[in-house]
Amino acid sequence: MKIDDITLKIIPDSRSEKTLEVEMSLEGHKVVASVPSGKSKGSNEAFVLEPEEALEKFTEIKFNLFTRQFSTLEEFDNYLISLDNTPNKQNLGGNLILVLSLGFTKLLAASQNLEIYQLIAGIIGHKIQKLPLCFYNLIEGGVHAKNSLPFQEYLLVPQTVSPKFSLELAQKAIKILEGKKYQRYGKVTYGDEGGFTMPSDNPREGLELLQEVRSGIDTHSKLSLDVAASVLFKDGKYQIGEKLLDEKEMLSLYHNFASDFPLLSIEDPFQEDDWQGFEDIRRQLGSKVWVVGDDLTTTNPQRITQAYQKGAVNAVIIKPNQIGSVTETIKAATLAQKYGWKVIVSHRSGETMDTFIADLAVGLGADGLKSGCPLQKERLVKYQRLIEIEEML
Ligand code: PEP
Ligand code: MG
Repeated sequence: MKIDDITLKIIPDSRSEKTLEVEMSLEGHKVVASVPSGKSKGSNEAFVLEPEEALEKFTEIKFNLFTRQFSTLEEFDNYLISLDNTPNKQNLGGNLILVLSLGFTKLLAASQNLEIYQLIAGIIGHKIQKLPLCFYNLIEGGVHAKNSLPFQEYLLVPQTVSPKFSLELAQKAIKILEGKKYQRYGKVTYGDEGGFTMPSDNPREGLELLQEVRSGIDTHSKLSLDVAASVLFKDGKYQIGEKLLDEKEMLSLYHNFASDFPLLSIEDPFQEDDWQGFEDIRRQLGSKVWVVGDDLTTTNPQRITQAYQKGAVNAVIIKPNQIGSVTETIKAATLAQKYGWKVIVSHRSGETMDTFIADLAVGLGADGLKSGCPLQKERLVKYQRLIEIEEML
């Protein structure tokens, strides 16, 4: 397959930061793809080039992309990876490689008359049997919010395989939460992912509020946390409001939360190099909750293997821009599945209108899709794409 045309440009993301969008065409098929960006990032993520610099790099390699034949996605991605020739994509930038990789994936699907999720399922030889659970980030804290909770995300996870029904429950929850927030604080404020924020430094309060909301909609729903603990870690301790907690104290907090609330998962409960902390929580709470790696594992097959060897997690976040190509993202996810872990495909805190991750989650047979709060359009479109796929299936 030989690409006819590629146009790369800079667009604003949901935080009004600059990011990359590509338009690619082939024999009458035209596709658009764009890349998101993270704020609470793992230090092992692919390098992100300034978008202006990425445009310059693209001009240098554009001719090569037109003149070569690529028969598979892996061939295309491997070619870009070899052009970059650095371990963390520092030369071409993970954002440039990924936007081209996403564009090529979509073009490949379009040229074969396939939906993107069908193409991905075909690549890994997976038969689609289920749709992912939706993880809605309704209360935000950490670096995604100002004057708010120390933990980054408080998520509602309706226990239904129907994304349509799941979104209806989330929207009902949002209405209740909005009312409660207004009553309690006199105003409603929002974080980066469109969820509500609350002026408290007590991490338990977010769970209590979400628990109240849950009892108003559907008591089967579960709650999840993304602690994003790397950003709380200062001088060997975790800063929780005024308090500095050590690993043992954090662990006991998680024990309390897991026994007092219907917790499905805890993401990044410890900072990204605290292997011992992860191992302890996985051993002690792993039979009850999903212990999820995000900054710990960074969608990187090497980090995932290391986490497996150490018994650090039983679930993983998959974010294409952490590793920087679709092929490597698929490899990371299928490796985690081979280890028997739960897989949650995720957006980033700075998002675009691209809905690729919904197709990725379905194609992989992932257990979850985490895409923020549906009050923000960039988040909503991903859940809506799941509903579209549900209707097709
Ligand atoms: C996350 O930590 O899961 C997240 C979505 O945040 P960010 O994109 O800022 O890393
Ligand atoms: Mg996270």
